[in-house]
Amino acid sequence: MRTPFIAGNWKMQLQRAAIAEFCRALRAFAADKARPAARLGIFPPFVYVQEVVEALAGSGVAVGGQTCHPAEQGAFTGEVSARMLRDVGASHVIVGHSERRQQAGETDADVRARLDAALAAGLDVIACLGETLPERKDGRTFAVVDRQLDALVSGLPGETLATRVTFAYEPVWAIGTGVTATPAQAQEVHAHLRARLAERCGAGVAARVLLQYGGSVKPDNVAELIECQDVDGALVGGASLQFSSFEAIARLGRAVAHGSNR
Ligand code: PEP
Repeated sequence: MRTPFIAGNWKMQLQRAAIAEFCRALRAFAADKARPAARLGIFPPFVYVQEVVEALAGSGVAVGGQTCHPAEQGAFTGEVSARMLRDVGASHVIVGHSERRQQAGETDADVRARLDAALAAGLDVIACLGETLPERKDGRTFAVVDRQLDALVSGLPGETLATRVTFAYEPVWAIGTGVTATPAQAQEVHAHLRARLAERCGAGVAARVLLQYGGSVKPDNVAELIECQDVDGALVGGASLQFSSFEAIARLGRAVAHGSNR
């Protein structure tokens, strides 16, 4: 059974007081032995990463950055390296979010360079991929996600993928729009991604890799998405900003008996 991973991407939102309150509530929730067994993660803006790491220390909740620079260090004004995230106690980083691909012009190769830097620095990774609406309408969804996935996995050891990388399928048309992929649409792409992973890395690895869904996940749609055979959790934007909705999603993202152990 793959344990679902529910992660909140706060983007450039929330500030210190709200973050402290959120973390207090999340700590208490994470300590509740009766809560469902989803893994939890929070991805705050860079300036708050260390504070969130400290506020959630020992809670089991993963904390990470929303991107990282591929270089270890250097003259890159405004950037933050994977090593720096690790240095302040982060355990994870997101790479390839569609907002980075679109707004910062990150190519597949750029995303892969960030993935490599993160792994080298000792961070686990959520690697995002997904098609735009025109790409879906043109019938190119599988071609697009195949291209993105291949760039992410090429040459990486299967064991690394199975234990340190989570892929987040995030159809761009569903991010921040209130339009969620239907469970059938999500499952179709997730099953395709898992089959592609099996071709590239072997069935044993593919059965262990976590595939999150992201795109307007809310308390009222998460259960039906997580029920899907190949959906192993959610990357949540807007609905992760209020503790009450993040908690509701985390409660519903319970362990579902599909897949292999991870
Ligand atoms: C995201 O940005 O990763 C995301 C899924 O956002 P939202 O949940 O707001 O659509």
